[in-house]
Amino acid sequence: MKKPLLMTPGPTYVSEEVRMAMAGTITNPDLDLSFYDFYRTICQDIQQLLDTKDDTLILSGEGILGLEAACASLIEPGDKVLCLDNGIFGKGFGDFAKIYGGKITYFKGDYKRGIDSQQLKDFLEKNHDFKIATLVHCETPSGITNPIDQICPLLDTYGIISVVDAVSSVGGEEVHVDDAKIDILLGGSQKCLSAPPGLTFLSISPRAWNKILNRTMKIKSFYCNLAVWKSWYEDKWFPYTQPVSDLYGFATAVKRCLKDEDKLKRHARIAHAVRKAIQASGLELYPYSGFSNTVTTIQIPKGINFKTLFNEMLHDKNIMIGGAFDFLENRVFRIGHMGENCYEDKVLVTLKALEDILRKHDVPLKESLYEVFLDN
Ligand SMILES: *Cc1c(COP(=O)(O)O)cnc(C)c1O
Repeated sequence: MKKPLLMTPGPTYVSEEVRMAMAGTITNPDLDLSFYDFYRTICQDIQQLLDTKDDTLILSGEGILGLEAACASLIEPGDKVLCLDNGIFGKGFGDFAKIYGGKITYFKGDYKRGIDSQQLKDFLEKNHDFKIATLVHCETPSGITNPIDQICPLLDTYGIISVVDAVSSVGGEEVHVDDAKIDILLGGSQKCLSAPPGLTFLSISPRAWNKILNRTMKIKSFYCNLAVWKSWYEDKWFPYTQPVSDLYGFATAVKRCLKDEDKLKRHARIAHAVRKAIQASGLELYPYSGFSNTVTTIQIPKGINFKTLFNEMLHDKNIMIGGAFDFLENRVFRIGHMGENCYEDKVLVTLKALEDILRKHDVPLKESLYEVFLDN
């Protein structure tokens, strides 16, 4: 059976070019000195992607490793951490900070809108005694993108180190680490970059390095310890054997992404057309505002449940769509239009299939999903 068209908000479709790159000859990455230069080239490409001069690293582990490594390396027991929470990932970030002894304060935003930077500004005027702040760029479950270009400069004015989870946005939304004064920004291989799951990457500002390298208490981890990477290139030393094949594939995926000059416009255009189609048909988007350009979250309409919708999309149409977890479970479904999936043809067949199934279950649609999509 042919693998389904993967329209989930990660993992996404991996191109043949990336898969072929992964078949390259394996070397010993510790002893083959050219591998250090290869790894450094990927780091430089990541700098270009994130628009930063800061150091960048690629770690062998899924996006969650990036989150945890940032928390483990930055947070000392008792450090005051501000956790910006307007969604499942934002709230969960606080749990990682707690594991490493952070004293958490939540700044709670509306779960159906992007974080309001004016409200945050007012809050910070009165409360700014924080060392670190955590936030999420794209809240993937709810399909909301937060304005990191407004939020992070605010945090910076109070000297608060910002840690941004941009796993589902890098490559699909504007990210300018230096302009936005972001201290640590992390991404994952399997979302908009369309490489297989398994790698996380991050940028680290001089201020973040300074905190990491001048702690009173030692970092209680090795795999999550960013300090051990400080001079990997000069010392020709990796803390552990590098995942050679994953890095071959990832390097190619990042190059493809950099070459694709239309990508951000295409993500914005397609996301807009999907939303138009959903709204014109009478279906309901989950968020009220702050819509993501990489994923659309839609309320499950009356007349069908998620399990039926998911199974019929998969078995009758060979298309895999996303659900959600936590409090959104069985309330929404999600279409990922990120990275290699962000093309008109893939989204069109997805909406056509969705329309067939909804009509079969007598879910009323005021207009045709795919016709409105095509007109926008
Ligand atoms: C996908 C994703 C991650 C990585 O988490 P997994 O659930 O393990 O894939 C982290 N943060 C965000 C915002 C994500 O979308």
